[in-house]
Amino acid sequence: MSKGSGRRRIQTVAIANRGEVAVRIMHACRELGIRTVLLHSEVDVATRAYRMADARVCIGPAALNESYLSIENVVNGALAGGADAVHPGFGFLSENADFAQAVVSAGMIFIGPKPESIRAAGDKISAKKLIEQAKAPTVPGYMGADQRIESLVEEAVRIGFPVIVKAAAGGGGRGMKVIRSRAEAAEQIASAQREGQAAFGSPVVFLEKYLDRAKHIEFQIFGDFTGQVVSLMERECSVQRRHQKIIEEALSPSLTPELRRAMGETAKRLAESAQYQSAGTVEFLLQDGAFYFLEMNTRLQVEHPVTEMVLGIDLVKAQILNAAQEFMVWPEESLRPHGHAIECRIYAENPYQAGMPSTGPLLGVSWPEGPGRRFETGVETGDAVTSYYDPMIAKVIVWDETRLRAIKKMKATLAESVVLGVHTNIPFLREMLSHPEFIDGAMTTQFVGQHFPEGLAPRERTELEKAFQMEAEKALLSSGDPAQGRTGFSDPMRLDAWRNV
Ligand code: ADP
Repeated sequence: MSKGSGRRRIQTVAIANRGEVAVRIMHACRELGIRTVLLHSEVDVATRAYRMADARVCIGPAALNESYLSIENVVNGALAGGADAVHPGFGFLSENADFAQAVVSAGMIFIGPKPESIRAAGDKISAKKLIEQAKAPTVPGYMGADQRIESLVEEAVRIGFPVIVKAAAGGGGRGMKVIRSRAEAAEQIASAQREGQAAFGSPVVFLEKYLDRAKHIEFQIFGDFTGQVVSLMERECSVQRRHQKIIEEALSPSLTPELRRAMGETAKRLAESAQYQSAGTVEFLLQDGAFYFLEMNTRLQVEHPVTEMVLGIDLVKAQILNAAQEFMVWPEESLRPHGHAIECRIYAENPYQAGMPSTGPLLGVSWPEGPGRRFETGVETGDAVTSYYDPMIAKVIVWDETRLRAIKKMKATLAESVVLGVHTNIPFLREMLSHPEFIDGAMTTQFVGQHFPEGLAPRERTELEKAFQMEAEKALLSSGDPAQGRTGFSDPMRLDAWRNV
């Protein structure tokens, strides 16, 4: 549906990202008949996204500040590639209002919310006004300007321990510390300030009461260019390690229809207050039947596929079409969730060594196709996992008619997934999916810390694995794979991860 007058044609989209999300965006563009330009760093050439793109522009070396986080390089790269629109994916510059503005000022379309909306909703301190307007309940805390350590310690005592200190500019679970007592407060606050400065360029922190048996429930929202906003219901992301999500699902097994309605309405009001356009997520914590606003993410979310699977929609295409002013939100009555979807994030890490990152050439990657299975990945056999970027190499998503069937399908799918050359967290995911608390749907954000504090206990390799390792070592040595010399291997046991039994 088009409004006619305002339509803006998009012929070429520049993708300011890498890995699986770059591939995801390319799929949407291809299906819409749109040309893609991948903006990539010097080291990101042996990748699936690089091979898939219609055109490529190198925007700098591996160092983030000189490529994916450089507004100037990204904007110039997009212009050089002849793009009329830029999709930021997630992470990197995706929630940077200055970047969105720079794209618009350069005469291109930013595929996402308006810079003002990003500014208003982007971090929790700046979102204060929206929170009040939308009457969103929040966790008790302190968000004041007085950033002296003594004052912050006093505020923490007033809130009552445990307290969580967060870097205002933080994200991705970084810059957060849980403070259990007054004795450790000053040290933890100082450490969060340092981390905020180093990772995000700002030492400003805020405090919140730490909810120690909460579930993470987030609502997908979408606003269109006409000002309509819909709630696309929730995802549950309680399975987290160090505040980072590992397993996500839609819908949550824990919401009553009343809670779903109340939380969805709150999310919608927040988005409306921000005059929000495009895909966004409102995150909440849920504890003892009460919900609290956590933050709003003004971008596509890593876990968006589970929402797509239960609602039968395509959020990335909707983002692109909305940016071209061709899309109006789905009528509320058409949004009927069907079945259950689960996503597992596949990380290149050693689950037997507390999740130590694992890098090296990928000698073999194979995903077991089947009904209701979806694989989102940025790497293929022959590519390498390097230490420059996030260790997430893929996402496995399954859909089935019920939650229990979806869990079983995920376990079967992971059992047949092959990643050879680096360790992955697949064995760990399978253990978590088998845990009674997860199966019951009762898990909280403490689930991993409580049941798997050290990851997985080391185990003996099977005879089959040992035999395979020998064969793979031989093949690798005789192939003279150039990737071997370039990246090296992270550990000598890498080949036992060939099949995650
Ligand atoms: P980020 O932006 O880094 O993802 P969030 O504020 O979204 O940070 O929080 C990430 C996770 O940290 C939450 O899902 C939750 O597990 C934990 N967390 C954050 N704030 C609190 C809190 N007040 N109480 C308990 N857990 C919290």
